[in-house]
Order: sequence, then C-alpha cells, then structure tokens
Amino acid sequence: MAKVVELKHINAFLRSGTPEPEHLKSDIINLRSFAFQLQKKIKEIKRELELEQEEKAQLLQLSRLDPETQLPISRFFRADLNSLVDKRRRQFESGEFEEVKAFAVVHIRLDENFEQITPERYKKILAFKIANQLRQIEMFDGHLYQGDSLGDFHLLLPMLRDEDTVRNIFDLEVFPMFREYHSTEDLRIKFDAHVGVAIFPEAGDNTYTLFESLELATDNSIRFNSRMTVYNAELGKEYRYRMRIRRELKLARQGYYQDFQLGYQPFVNRQGKIIGCETLVRWHHPDLGFISPGLFIGLAEKHGEMNPLGWWILYRACEQMKAWLDAGAEIEYVSVNLSPLQFEETFARDIHGEDLDLGLEQSIHSLLETMGLRGDQLKLEITEGAIMKDPLHSIDKLHRLRESDIRIAVDDFGTGYSSLNYLIKLPINTLKIDKSFIDDMMTNESNRVVVKSIIDLGKNLNLEILVEGVENKDQKEFLFEHGVDLIQGYYYAPAVSGEEFSRLLAENTFSDR
Ligand code: C2E
Ligand code: CA
Ligand code: CA
Repeated sequence: MAKVVELKHINAFLRSGTPEPEHLKSDIINLRSFAFQLQKKIKEIKRELELEQEEKAQLLQLSRLDPETQLPISRFFRADLNSLVDKRRRQFESGEFEEVKAFAVVHIRLDENFEQITPERYKKILAFKIANQLRQIEMFDGHLYQGDSLGDFHLLLPMLRDEDTVRNIFDLEVFPMFREYHSTEDLRIKFDAHVGVAIFPEAGDNTYTLFESLELATDNSIRFNSRMTVYNAELGKEYRYRMRIRRELKLARQGYYQDFQLGYQPFVNRQGKIIGCETLVRWHHPDLGFISPGLFIGLAEKHGEMNPLGWWILYRACEQMKAWLDAGAEIEYVSVNLSPLQFEETFARDIHGEDLDLGLEQSIHSLLETMGLRGDQLKLEITEGAIMKDPLHSIDKLHRLRESDIRIAVDDFGTGYSSLNYLIKLPINTLKIDKSFIDDMMTNESNRVVVKSIIDLGKNLNLEILVEGVENKDQKEFLFEHGVDLIQGYYYAPAVSGEEFSRLLAENTFSDR
C-alpha cells in the first residue's frame, strides 16, 4: 500500500516540476529506467506486429498465386465468383438492370496428352506457357485462375453473356493455341482441351449450383471427348438420372444384385458350332426399367462399385458354366469381361466391399477350384487400353492368370493403340476385334483393311481371332474367308438367358447358316 502512495507522489512531482525529494530519488531513477525499458519494449512489440502484418500480406499475395503458373489459385475463383453473383443480384434488386445480367464461367481442362507428359518439370513449364497465352482472354475483360491441378484453368467472364459469343472466342482465340509444343528436350506434343461453360443465371443463380453446372459441363466434354459443352437443363436432368443410378447401384449391392441377370452370347466357329460365350450383365430395375450396361458399368467403375459387381458376375458365370457342364452340354469355356478397374486392383472385393484375402489372380484360381472348373474353361476379356496402360505390370499379371490355363482375350482390339513390342510378349490367346470396325466394314474400304491387317497380325502371332458385332451374312462370310476363327453377333444370336443358351447348345442350328 505504502508503495502506491509513494508512486502517486512521484507522479505529482514529475508533473509539477518541483525538485525531487531526497528520500524518493532512488525510486525515481528506478522508475525512469523502468519507463524507458517499457517504452522500448512497446516499440519492439509494435515493430514485431508491423512485420507480422507485412509478412501476412506477403503470404496472402503469394498464396493468391500458383507458384508454377503465377495465376490466382482456385480458392479465389470461388470467392470472386461469389462476389460477382452477389453484385449481379444487387444490381437487379436495386433496379439498375431490368433483368439479372448474365455472365459466363469457363473451366478449361487440358486433355490426357498433357497429363501424360512424363517429365514433371516440363509439364510445369508448359502449364506456365499456356497460362500466359490464356491471359489473352483477359482482353475480353476476363479473369483467369489456376484450377486444382496443372493444366486446369478457370475463367470468369463478366462481359460475355451468351453461348455464341463464348463459342466464337474459343474457336478463334483459345483452341488454335493448342498446337504442337516443343521442349528443349525435343519432346513434341500435340494436345487439346476439354471445356465446360456455365452461364449465370440460367445454369444456376447461386455460386454452388453454378459451380456444379460448370463441373458437369466439363465432365460432359471429357466423357464424350468433345471440345466444349455449354450447360443446359437437359444435361442437368441426365446428371440427376446418373446420380440416381449411382445410388441404386449401392442399394443393388446391398440387396445381393437381385435385379441383375447374366446374358450369354455365343461365339460360333467356321463350322457353325458354338465354342463358348460372352457373359453380358443385364439390369432390369423395378422402377427405372432396363438400364444399359454401357451406362451403369461406367458409373460403377467411377464410384467404387465395380469390384464387388465384377466379382459377383464372375462368380455367377462360373456357377452357370458348371451347371451347363453338369447337364452334359458341350461348351469349351465361358468368357467374362474383367473391367479395367478390376484388372488394375490387386485384390478382388466381395459384395460387402471387403477385400478377399487373396490377390485377384489367387482369388480367381480359388474360385475355379471351389466351382470344380478347370482354368481353360474360363476366358477373361480385358480391354486393350487396360493392358497397355502399364504393359510390364500387365505381362506379370497375365502370366499369373495363365498359370492355371485361364484364357485371355484382348477386348476392343484396335480401338486403343498397342505397342507391338509388348503385344508379342503378352501371354494371351485371343484378339477380339471391336464392333466399330465391323459396322460399316462392307462399305468402308479402310475398315476392311484394318480388319484384314489385324487378322494377319493375329495369325502371325499365333493368336485366335474373335470378331464381335457381326449382324449379317456378308460380314460373316468375308470374315471367315479371311481367316477369322470365331464370330459373335446378332447374326447368330444376342445375349440370352442361361436356360435359353442351353437350348442353343443342344439344338446346334448355326451350322446350316
Ligand atoms: P463389349 O464388351 O464390347 O460387349 C459387346 C457389346 O456389343 C454388348 O453390348 C453386346 O450386346 C453388343 N453386341 C454384340 N453383338 C452385337 C451385334 O451384332 N450388334 C450390336 N448392335 N451389338 C452387339 P452390351 O451388353 O450393351 O455391353 C456394352 C458394354 O458394357 C460391353 O462392351 C462391356 O464393356 C460392358 N459390359 C457388359 N457386360 C459386362 C460385364 O459383365 N462386365 C463388365 N466389366 N463389363 C460389361
Ligand atoms: Ca467384351
Ligand atoms: Ca467392344
């Protein structure tokens, strides 16, 4: 308490300028030095705070820009989009405009050729170059942002209000710039872009919906390998249908795929005898009706449902094969499509999504054993694309499958590109020529040339040639004359139920066609 009183005195003395009383002198000296220290400390803290602020601002500036492309990063695209939506709304509400003024948002995704550029460093340089070129678009009063990855860009175009203008600008200014690029390492690469466009407010009157529509439009361009998709209501409807299928796939799994059936389409040889068949999955949904595998297989792959579904198909197909054999039917093998995803994954997964303890190859071997089937009574169709994605790995994997004599067909052959180098090393039995070459084969000379060369190639490599999608006699005769071993197609039969297939086997009527 005494101290406080003394301090009060000191303050009074200091202000009044009266000479310091002798008995307080040392206290005053201490206090002055303390005050000095305090001031110094305050200054230091202030400076530190200032520095911190500066650093923060610098960091913010830095984090606004992508280090590779020097473009603002995607977070700011969303924020700026948000402000623009708000602004347009306010302008409308305040009566500044009679209607909500439109504007366009664009997503540019460089295609997989860009993705596949191997030296990461080169990819970065290229992304930077392209970003620089894309900046020209800012002349149209646009703002360019880096997307979530290199080769991924967003554009906000407040002044562009309709589809035609956006299309024109892209046709004239953007697409021509994706030419051949050269690097110092003499890599030459040609690539293109997939573009999605959404126009406010038609494609969504809030940031969330607008962004979703934009992603949808981009997805659509990628899926159909087209350059540009402008969002429209039809696209939204299709998207909701696909989302429904996605949910239904999960429910179907939980219900042990009770609405799924397997169809079997015969492979017929030159003598008209059925040698084997392809298993094709069918889904008759109680509310949605028939759903095409072309649609749901893709969705199953995308949303983690393919492995359990594929395993169910394989299991059921083997069960059916065993039933035919037990009934005394003459059939060499059943063929089952192995989705690229199943082929890539190490483990097979059951209906509950659980890894079966063994690797994929082991799981298939042990399935055959349980079913009492030999390996050569099963054929797996694996697409050319899936095999060639990682050829060395595929060679190993296929060898492990071949250990128990499982037959391997390269599906959709001719649609991807196979390196001959690897093709000769692959332990495969069959090349399956894709339907797309057969459709207009009789009228299209170049398709006939492709088919003939694939046949020659296959023969030289000692491979069996199977052709799918044969619909008429002309096609059939041309193909058998040129050395094809097996034909599959509506000319003989579509995929039919297991029971009907038993009848086809018993009747054996294709020999007189
Ligand atoms: P894919 O493996 O190329 O199967 C051949 C497709 O062509 C089948 O269509 C088949 O029904 C059809 N097709 C066969 N012959 C003819 C013909 O003469 N004319 C015409 N117009 N079409 C013919 P589907 O069953 O609709 O299957 C489409 C695709 O869905 C398949 O192409 C395959 O990629 C996938 N898929 C079907 N079932 C399965 C399956 O069980 N597992 C997996 N992973 N994929 C399957
Ligand atoms: Ca197939
Ligand atoms: Ca095909």
